[in-house]
Amino acid sequence: MVDMVDIKVGYTCNNDCFHCVIADKRRGLIREGKSTDRTIEEIMDHIKDAINQKAETVVLTGGEITIRREFFQILDFAAKNVSHINLQTNGRMFFYDEYVNKVISYPNVNATIAIHSCKPKVHEWITGAKGSFEQTIQGIKNLIKAGMKNRIGGKIVISKLNMDHISDIVQMCNDIGLKSINIAFPHAMGNAKLNFYDCIPKYSEIADEIIKTTKLSIKLGMHIDWEAIPLCFLKGYETFASELIMVEHAVLKDLTHTDQNYTKARQTTAKRKGPQCKECRCNNICEGVWDDYEEGYDVSELKPYPMKGPNDYIADPREFESFKLRQVPLFKRNINTIVSNKI
Ligand code: SF4
Repeated sequence: MVDMVDIKVGYTCNNDCFHCVIADKRRGLIREGKSTDRTIEEIMDHIKDAINQKAETVVLTGGEITIRREFFQILDFAAKNVSHINLQTNGRMFFYDEYVNKVISYPNVNATIAIHSCKPKVHEWITGAKGSFEQTIQGIKNLIKAGMKNRIGGKIVISKLNMDHISDIVQMCNDIGLKSINIAFPHAMGNAKLNFYDCIPKYSEIADEIIKTTKLSIKLGMHIDWEAIPLCFLKGYETFASELIMVEHAVLKDLTHTDQNYTKARQTTAKRKGPQCKECRCNNICEGVWDDYEEGYDVSELKPYPMKGPNDYIADPREFESFKLRQVPLFKRNINTIVSNKI
């Protein structure tokens, strides 16, 4: 049994984001004259595999799944056979009522919608798509109005283009009725790798904005969580790290490969730490930074939590003061289990 299967249905998208992690794979397939999308039969087979594996959640993502001709055929089959479906989308198609009306008819479908700025020009600079800001924001409003408020969340990918106003984006999300936002540090793959120094900030450049945004979310009563932010940049708010609430066993089905245990691969291979992390109290509970961060920056800015004696490692999120502010479920994986191969 697995907790979650993440199925990428294809790479076709109506946005072309500055930080898009699959853009290079899409370009590669186009260069080779191959399709950038799975066939409907392949997608259905992957959903059937997830059903056979008794997956609790199936994530349907792309590219942009909502622009596929067979979108509702896929959604209908998945929603009728899996307990929870999470659609990862830019939300633009929910500008249209017929899309909203069909999606809300599935009570087990949640949506995570990407919003990259509260400033239309910045959002559209990032998405590369004129009109995308209005469509995404109106799409969110339409879903909320139709009754999906508790089943949609926002997703902000941090970049140099929005790093100075993340708190303003969270404020706007609150104002339009969103109650939950995941804020992710960019993975230096695809376009983000191509645009490395224009796209990816140093953690020290966003340190103040992380704390300011977290404090604002508490004031607003919003749920936010931070993805790929090492715990030393969440001091006082460590339990706002999304790695502490991610599922234990995720399967990733990308077009190029399948990872049968993405959670393990992320913790041990896709993330890395610095040599100083060995002396940090959080070493057994912190995943560190994306491995590819070090292609552009060194990790000397990671600051260990001092140990009071030998082996004084934090073994459980309840030891953080912030557990009183934000409780996280106590899974096996966040209790003394995280060991990066790259330290
Ligand atoms: S283990 Fe490393 S990255 Fe994590 S909190 Fe400690 S110093 Fe920072």
